[in-house]
Amino acid sequence: MKQLTRRSFNGLATKGLLGSAFLANMPLANAFTTNKNGKKLGVALVGLGSYSTYQLAPSLLDTEHCYLAGIVTGTKEKESVWQEKYNIPKENIYNYENFDTIADNDSIDVIYVVLPNSMHAEFCIRAAKAGKHVICEKPMAVSVAECDAIMNACNEHKVKLSVGYRMQSDPYTHEVKKYVREKTFGDVLFVSSDAGYVSNGNPDQWRLNKKLSGGGALMNMGVYAIQTSIYGTGQNPISVSAQEFSTRPEYFKDTDETITAQFKFENGAIAHMMTSHNANGNRLKCHCSKGWFELDPAHSYGPISGRTSNGDVLKFPHKRQQALQMDDFAKHILLDSKNVAPGEMGKRDMIIVEAIYNSIREGGQEQLLSLGNLGILM
Ligand code: NAD
Repeated sequence: MKQLTRRSFNGLATKGLLGSAFLANMPLANAFTTNKNGKKLGVALVGLGSYSTYQLAPSLLDTEHCYLAGIVTGTKEKESVWQEKYNIPKENIYNYENFDTIADNDSIDVIYVVLPNSMHAEFCIRAAKAGKHVICEKPMAVSVAECDAIMNACNEHKVKLSVGYRMQSDPYTHEVKKYVREKTFGDVLFVSSDAGYVSNGNPDQWRLNKKLSGGGALMNMGVYAIQTSIYGTGQNPISVSAQEFSTRPEYFKDTDETITAQFKFENGAIAHMMTSHNANGNRLKCHCSKGWFELDPAHSYGPISGRTSNGDVLKFPHKRQQALQMDDFAKHILLDSKNVAPGEMGKRDMIIVEAIYNSIREGGQEQLLSLGNLGILM
């Protein structure tokens, strides 16, 4: 087999030229040996806060098709700590200023942006310009316009893009999607979703600062309830109406505390969601014409738990969702498998977020949505 350089391999993979013909009938392990570092894609994490530290980096020790190859940090002291802990070569350590030179580093294939929401667009676009595949944490950005800018940059530079929607790789989500697709419990008539926690931390944290977060509970946790409302019905909503509640205005000075929203779907189904930084919620329940199914918890790091009206208790082996998610993206790059959380899905959710904020501004007025099948993967 012809040996490819990392860059030419990426280019071919992006163009889909490593798809069916090249890889047909080839064992997975052989496909990965075309990679310079052995069998795995090199991932660089940008932003070494709590999610990178406690979830993504440990998960990258548990991935089959990618590994932690580099870091990008604005905090000098973190460099040696991470270098030592994860055996990261010095030349794979970047800061926000010299980040763009990562373009010259062939051992980095994927850049994973794990910064405050308002910084996602800038760093995803810089990553795309550097010719690297991109994973953008959720919410994808702080506006639909920024989602478009990220997608355009990735298209222009022919790199793949995925949103950090770990639940899209979780086996419980796959089971729910199967129930909806196969109408196991009949037609889904009503979906109820909650996603929230009680925030009591530093009032100056970026999540409570609209300039950095783009919004409060809706941006942070609401995207989970939007996602479950959609995969719980198998469709995009055709309209949304929303309400906002504030009970601790002295703490939530700049961002939304609790939001409820109701979605209508073309087939007559309805969904209700609650998201909050002042109430716990972690649930999806789908009421159907012949029974029901639910996940509770529905979107924490796991294990997820589920039940159905048949008396079944869902049980899948637990594996870190983030490891499954990053492996799914690596396989998408290497083998042209389905992108389970494409940019279109992140943009679709941001269109809904903006419609919810518009509805609240207009006193709960119903907002019509023309999403078609944007971001639907069942
Ligand atoms: P965090 O506050 O723990 O870390 C943020 C990181 O960004 C820190 O390393 C910080 O130094 C850096 N940073 C750079 N500029 C900054 C600035 N101006 N203000 C504040 N921090 C700055 O946050 P986190 O929990 O790691 O979240 C980061 C991203 O990951 C967010 O977009 C969040 O929504 C997402 N996230 C996703 C999940 C998930 O389950 N998919 C879970 C947690 C966080």
